Amino acid sequence: MNPLNWISEELEKLESQHLRRIPTVRHGPQTLEINLDGRSCINFGANDYLGLANDVGICRTVMEAIAEYGWSSGASASLTGRSSQHDKLEKALAKFEGTDAALVFPTGYAANVGTLTSLAGRGDVIFSDEKNHASLIDGCRLSRADIQIYPHVDMDFLRNQLRDTSQYRRKLIVTDGLFSMDGDVAPLPDLVALAEQYEAILIVDEAHATGVLGSLGRGACEAMGVEDRVAVRTGNFSKAFGSIGGFVTGSEPLIRWLYNRARSQVFSTALPAAACTATLAALQNVEHEPYRRRELLERAQWLRTKISAQGWELPAGNDHIIPVIVGQATDALALSQSLLSRGIYVPAIRPPTVAPGESRLRISLSYLHREEHCEALVDQLGRCKAASTSSQ
Ligand SMILES: *Cc1c(COP(=O)(O)O)cnc(C)c1O
Repeated sequence: MNPLNWISEELEKLESQHLRRIPTVRHGPQTLEINLDGRSCINFGANDYLGLANDVGICRTVMEAIAEYGWSSGASASLTGRSSQHDKLEKALAKFEGTDAALVFPTGYAANVGTLTSLAGRGDVIFSDEKNHASLIDGCRLSRADIQIYPHVDMDFLRNQLRDTSQYRRKLIVTDGLFSMDGDVAPLPDLVALAEQYEAILIVDEAHATGVLGSLGRGACEAMGVEDRVAVRTGNFSKAFGSIGGFVTGSEPLIRWLYNRARSQVFSTALPAAACTATLAALQNVEHEPYRRRELLERAQWLRTKISAQGWELPAGNDHIIPVIVGQATDALALSQSLLSRGIYVPAIRPPTVAPGESRLRISLSYLHREEHCEALVDQLGRCKAASTSSQ
């Protein structure tokens, strides 16, 4: 008997629960109008928040960088993979973030896993928001520290958990800054105060907030005025920066330690130099074109107001990640399909990405979306709502 036979059975189970994921193919670049599996649609499913992923100027810069540095970095950063572009990016990023130092990782996932496993181990405890990103969850698990999960943004619960920690060596609190599937910002001032009171290390993942939130675009910590009190910030270049890679910012000793200890960086090939060049160019956009984030957030407010007025359930939030809660996976899929048939792509988010019964559409707004695209989305969502109400 084939020892992998169980896989087919499990896949059928996923299928019957409407949880199976079928690979899609995007033809052409990641931009406002995409061609997905041969169908052209307006794209509300990318994290290209500032519209830089397919920026003509950045693409040209990347081609020049490839001509100069070649393509692959060919080795991990600790050997020969770390180019002058990596060095330049780390310095520019630290300056942008207002921290002493920064470290670039192959991805945001690697940054989170590498950071948590370098800062916590056996005998330590990590307090983790139940809605944290999978990369933080996996970092917690790999660290071998005890993990205590607190209900989403429940600060009273966390305070109680923190009271009884005398048996542990180190305490860490880890949270998304802007939550990826709910679009709400963590209560960072409360988290900072708790971390200080209980002498815990606070780690904030800014993946969805870097480049967008805060008047300088540094993220949720800046927006909430607590940057200087957060010891460790992680993030990535694959969302608002429209590039690829992950990062950690903080003190010199922290970054030196991670450079020595983070296995996801030591044992993984460094980014191509040209990827760092792309991020450096995107950083220029983030610094010098604040209107991108301002317009994005204004349009997000407008869209949120319109969609909730139609009677859809939206979690509290003000930002560019706009979840529309549907409930059952099958209903979320049907809604997503229905929008797609009308030329609008909004992905259905199902378990295990969200809890069972909390399936949703997730609208990712971009600077590229103009008024007419948002109006088309509102219009079509309104039709779907009317159809579902009349069939009840
Ligand atoms: C996307 C994301 C990551 C992972 O970043 P990659 O660069 O895509 O690996 C980490 N944390 C959060 C909160 C994210 O949304």
